[in-house]
Amino acid sequence: MKLPIYMDHHATTPVDPRVFEAMTPYFLQKFGNAASRKHSFGWEAEAAVELARKQAAQLIGARPKEIIFTSGATESDNLAIRGVAELHHERGNHIITVATEHNAVLDTCKRLERSGCRVTYLPVDRNGLVDPDDVRRAISAQTVLITVMFANNEIGTIHPVAEIGRLARENGVLFHTDATQAVGHVPVDVEKMNIDLLSFTAHKMYGPKGIGGLYIRRKNPRVALPPMIEGGGHERGMRSGTLNVPGIVGLGEACRICAGQMDAESERLRKLRDRLKNGILAGLDEVYLNGDETKRLPHNLNLSFACVEAESLLMGVHDVALSTGSACTSAAVEPSHVLKALGISEELIQSSIRFGLGRFNTEEEVDYVKDRVVEAVNRLRELSPLYHGSGSGKRTGG
Ligand SMILES: *Cc1c(COP(=O)(O)O)cnc(C)c1O
Repeated sequence: MKLPIYMDHHATTPVDPRVFEAMTPYFLQKFGNAASRKHSFGWEAEAAVELARKQAAQLIGARPKEIIFTSGATESDNLAIRGVAELHHERGNHIITVATEHNAVLDTCKRLERSGCRVTYLPVDRNGLVDPDDVRRAISAQTVLITVMFANNEIGTIHPVAEIGRLARENGVLFHTDATQAVGHVPVDVEKMNIDLLSFTAHKMYGPKGIGGLYIRRKNPRVALPPMIEGGGHERGMRSGTLNVPGIVGLGEACRICAGQMDAESERLRKLRDRLKNGILAGLDEVYLNGDETKRLPHNLNLSFACVEAESLLMGVHDVALSTGSACTSAAVEPSHVLKALGISEELIQSSIRFGLGRFNTEEEVDYVKDRVVEAVNRLRELSPLYHGSGSGKRTGG
C-alpha cells in the first residue's frame, strides 16, 4: 500500500490510464484543429471530437448533437442559467433553485438577482433533500427555470430529479441540473427524467481537468442558448473557441469507461464505503452521518465527530487526503452552506469530514483510513475538556 492515500474524489479524480492513453496521440501526432475543413489533420480531429460527443451523449441518454463542450461544469452552469434568463427575460424573470447547490449555481443566481431576476432558494430537509411539493408551490407564471443539482458534492444526497423534471415539464418551465457528481457514477437519463439542460465535467469521472459539457435539449422543447463567448460560432454558435481536442477525447473515453463499468463500480464502492462507515461507527461513539442514508452517491460518506475539530483531525491523519465541512476562504474558515442548510449545529459542522471513495481505492486502504481516523479521534477527544466534561450521548445535531 502506498501513502498518501487519496480519498477526496468529489474534489477531483485521477485520470484513468486508459483515458490518458486515448488522449496522448492528440497532442503530438493528431494535433489538428477540429474546425480545419481542408486537410486530414482537421478531419481526424473532427472525427475524434464527434466520437467523444457520441460517447458523452450515450452515457446520459442524449443525442450527440445535444452535447456542447465547455471548460467544465462551472462554465456549463453559467451558460445554462444565464442563457435561459436572457433567452426568456420577456416571458418571466423567476428562477427556482435550492440552498445546497454548488457555488457555480448559487453565485450565478446571485448575479442575476442584481440584474433584476427573482430567485427562490428552496430549503432542504434534515437529510439534504428538496421536497418536490416545495418546487411545485414555488412555480409561478413568471418562472422560466428550475435548477436543482442531481447529487450533492458534500453529502452525496441524490435529489428526486425525475419528479422535479416531470413538474417542470407539466408547467412548461425549463429544467437544468448540475449533474457533475452523478454522471458516470449513477444512472442519468435526460429523456426519462425530463431534463432540458445538464452540466457535467470530465475531472470528476476520471477524465482530465478543464473540459466538460452541457447537454442542451433539441426536441420537445428545442432549447437554443445565447452564448457567453462569441467568435467563430463553434459548438452550434453557443460556445465559440477552438476545441480542446485532447481534452474532449479524454472526456469521451472517460464516459465510455464509466458506461461500461458503472454497475460493478458503484456496487464495489458502496461496499467499501459501508465498510468504512461501519468500521468507524463500531470504533467510536458520537459520530453522526450527514446526508441521506440511502438516497446517496455510493462513494460518498460525510460524518461529524462530536468534540473534534475537523481541521485537527485532518492533521492527525495527514497521510490521507480528505475534506472538511468548512471551506477556508481568504481569511476566515467558513462553515459549509450545505451542512448549514441541513440545520446542523455550528459545532458539528466544524467537526465534519467528507470521504470520497474512488476507482483505485482498495479494501486495504479503507481499513487503514478507518484505523487512522479512529485513533486520531480518540486522541483528540482525550485532550478535549468538552468530551469528558459534557458526558457522552449528547446529540446536538447531525
Ligand atoms: C466540481 C463541481 C463543479 C465545478 O466543476 P468544474 O469542472 O471544476 O468547473 C460544479 N458543480 C458541482 C456539483 C461540482 O461538484
